[in-house]
Amino acid sequence: MLHAMRPVLLATALLAVTAHAFLGFGSGSARNAADDAKWGHYHNQEQLETKLNEINEKCPEISTLYEIGKSVEGRSLVVIHFSTTPGEHVPTKPEVKLIGNMHGNEPIGRELLLRFAENLCDGAINNDKEVIQLLNSTSIHILPSMNPDGFELALSTEPAQRQWLTGRANINGVDLNRDFPDLDSIFYELQKIQVPKFDHLLSLFDDNVDRQPETIAVGQWTLSLPFVLSANFHEGDLVANYPFDAAIDENSQKTDYSASPDDGTFRWLAKSYADNHAHMSKNDHAPCDGSSQDAFARQGGITNGAKWYSVAGGMQDFNYLATNAMEITLELSCEKMPAGSQLPQFWEDNKKSIFEYVWKSHSGIKGLVVDATTGEPIYRAVVWIRNGTETVPIKHPVTTWSEGDYYRILPAGQYEVIVAAEGYDIAAKNVTIENKVRDSALVVNFALSPSAEQPSENEQEKIAELVDEITRRR
Ligand SMILES: [Zn+2]
Repeated sequence: MLHAMRPVLLATALLAVTAHAFLGFGSGSARNAADDAKWGHYHNQEQLETKLNEINEKCPEISTLYEIGKSVEGRSLVVIHFSTTPGEHVPTKPEVKLIGNMHGNEPIGRELLLRFAENLCDGAINNDKEVIQLLNSTSIHILPSMNPDGFELALSTEPAQRQWLTGRANINGVDLNRDFPDLDSIFYELQKIQVPKFDHLLSLFDDNVDRQPETIAVGQWTLSLPFVLSANFHEGDLVANYPFDAAIDENSQKTDYSASPDDGTFRWLAKSYADNHAHMSKNDHAPCDGSSQDAFARQGGITNGAKWYSVAGGMQDFNYLATNAMEITLELSCEKMPAGSQLPQFWEDNKKSIFEYVWKSHSGIKGLVVDATTGEPIYRAVVWIRNGTETVPIKHPVTTWSEGDYYRILPAGQYEVIVAAEGYDIAAKNVTIENKVRDSALVVNFALSPSAEQPSENEQEKIAELVDEITRRR
């Protein structure tokens, strides 16, 4: 997608490691006045772009900037990409994305992501052991602002005049977190009529609705790389929200839990963010809405989206149902757009969570699927996972990318990995995932033998039957 660059493996200066061991992000390092002055305000679009350019110029070997599109008013939707191979996908190196400011009047994430970007760059320069390990193993894409027009409107409105919704939507008045294709309705319908199709549902979707440029840009970006893990930063509460976001019955006003096939894994991901946050999972703060129903801390600082309130056309469910990526939505503050002077404290409260969450892209398994005779990568092979405690696989396979690589985030446990591809014999392996290695998921490669059977007249039908067999009869 972008220019290729030669990989640069970052070296850690051993002497520097000791010096930085107590300055690391996990050490609860104290704030200092200079950082507070630098980060105690919101960056407008021009300042944001300037800052991203400065970071990129300071760290050209590990970062690159690219634009995924423009807002309605023509502002750049700019991404900074950190990797030892900036601008390039390397098979089995997980791609992570972090998205801020989807709602324009919820800009804490925008500022935290900008600071996170600077932290990665400075950490690499200063030989911070953990930052270097992270950058050597991970490809991190940061979009600080998905809705710069809404942000500028909120920023230019006096705080006293700002309503709860001022600047939330894009400049056309569309809530971007309701503007994605509603794939949940397709998923629920397929379940109802018992069609064994659970993933990559976008091809089945058609509603003839004109979507907003910001939604299209982020949607296409989401599909353009084999993203493994994603987070979407918001405000209005303090909780980590995981799929599904949409209720099974949109019209029922009920708030029923809607579990995705990966409910356990999503809860584990959300809990990682909440537990590493200064307050999210702790009983040390009042519920944002003042009622006991909203006491998210009592449930570990996490919530199922639909159980909270139903959102159709949201981004996190789109990620899960259209791609292999797993995304959660993070609510960082009861108050929307708090005074800029509070931003340094928000960074202190969230930085460990952000780092630990990105590390989660190295959990579970990953590997390459190739043709056993030619060694060529197999694109769109389907990888199913059966939890050792279950009889049928998780109804959410992932598919291989063009270079044959796949990624599957999973908590520790015993699993069976089953790989199917058109024209090949099915293959399976039992694995024990421990998630003890921080910078690499367990590598499980497959070399598939071309099927001895003649290709059937209708290959799609054959695959569908295979899927049916895997998911029903095992
Ligand atoms: Zn929001």
